Amino acid sequence: MNYSDIHNKVRLWYKRYGRETLPWRQTDDPYVIYISEMMLQQTQVKTVLERFFFPFLERFPTLQSIKEASLDDLLHAWQGLGYYRRARYIYDCAQIAAPKLPTDPKELVKLPGIGKSTAHAIAAFSTHQPVAILDANVKRILYRFFAKQKATEKELWQMAEELLDREEPYIYNQAMMDIGAMVCLPKAPKCELCPLSSHCMGRENPLAYPQKKERKKRPIKQKKIAVVQCNNKLLMRKRQTELLGGLWEFPEVEELQLPVDKPCCTITHTYTHFKLEAELFYIKVDQCSGIKEGEWIDIASFSEIATSSLEKKIIKQLFQTDTN
Ligand code: SF4
Repeated sequence: MNYSDIHNKVRLWYKRYGRETLPWRQTDDPYVIYISEMMLQQTQVKTVLERFFFPFLERFPTLQSIKEASLDDLLHAWQGLGYYRRARYIYDCAQIAAPKLPTDPKELVKLPGIGKSTAHAIAAFSTHQPVAILDANVKRILYRFFAKQKATEKELWQMAEELLDREEPYIYNQAMMDIGAMVCLPKAPKCELCPLSSHCMGRENPLAYPQKKERKKRPIKQKKIAVVQCNNKLLMRKRQTELLGGLWEFPEVEELQLPVDKPCCTITHTYTHFKLEAELFYIKVDQCSGIKEGEWIDIASFSEIATSSLEKKIIKQLFQTDTN
C-alpha cells in the first residue's frame, strides 16, 4: 500500500503539535540522544525533563566522561530513575565505544544494552537514517493501525517498516512517539484528532487492539534485613546481583554472625516482577572492627552513595531521615 497521504498528514501534524522543543530534539549529538533514549525507556518524559536529563549531562557531558568516571559515580547520578541496569549498560557501553558513539544501527546493536529500537532511534534522530523505531507507544499504534490483536516482535517490525516514511524518517519517528503519547492513548484514543485515522483499520474499535494480557499477580519474596549501627555508622555492602547490582544495600541477617532478637518492624517494597516483604532487625554494636563483612558508611554521608529506593525507605523509617 502507498502511505504517502498518511506521511503528509503526519508531517503536518508534527509541525503543528509535535514536541519539537524537547531538549533531546534540539541536538544531533548521538550521545545526548542515546542518554535520553535510555532514560525514557522506563521513565516518563516529564520526570526525565524536570529532574534528570540536565543534571546528568552536566555531570557527564560526553561518553568519554562516563568512561573516565567510576560505576559508583554513574549509579549515584542515576539515583531516582530506577531500573539501574540501564546505568550499568551505559557504563559498559562507554568502556567500549568512547570517545564517540557510532551512528550505524548495525554497530550500535553490538553495544551492551542497545536494542534495535534504541539503535534506530539514535540513527534516525542524529543522522536522519531511514529506519523505524518500535517503542511501547509505537507498538500500540501499529496494533491498532493494522487491527492486529496479537503480533510477534518480527511482525511488529515488519509493520513498523511498512508504515515508515523513508523520506522524512526523523519527523515520522518523532511524530509516531508523540502520537502514541498524546493521541493514540492506551485507554482513551483520540481518533478524531489522529493524522493516521483515514487509513487506520482499528479505528472503529481501537481498545480491542492489542488483545489485553492477563495481569499476573506479583509473587511475594521475603527477606530478613539487618540494619547494624556502630556509633554514627551503618553496615552496608555492595550488591552483586543482576537486579540493582553495584548499589549499596543492607546485608541480610543470615550473612552476619550476630545474635538477633525480634524484628523491630517490617517494610514492603514493590519491584517490577515481585513484591518484597522484609523484616528489619536493628542491631547496635559497640565495636565496628568486630564485623568483617561489608563496609561502615557514615549516616551523614548516606546521600552521597548510590542506594536503591528500598534502602532510602529503610533509613527514613528507622531514622526519620530523608536521603533523597
Ligand atoms: S486512528 Fe485512533 S486507533 Fe488509529 S492510530 Fe489513530 S488514535 Fe490510534
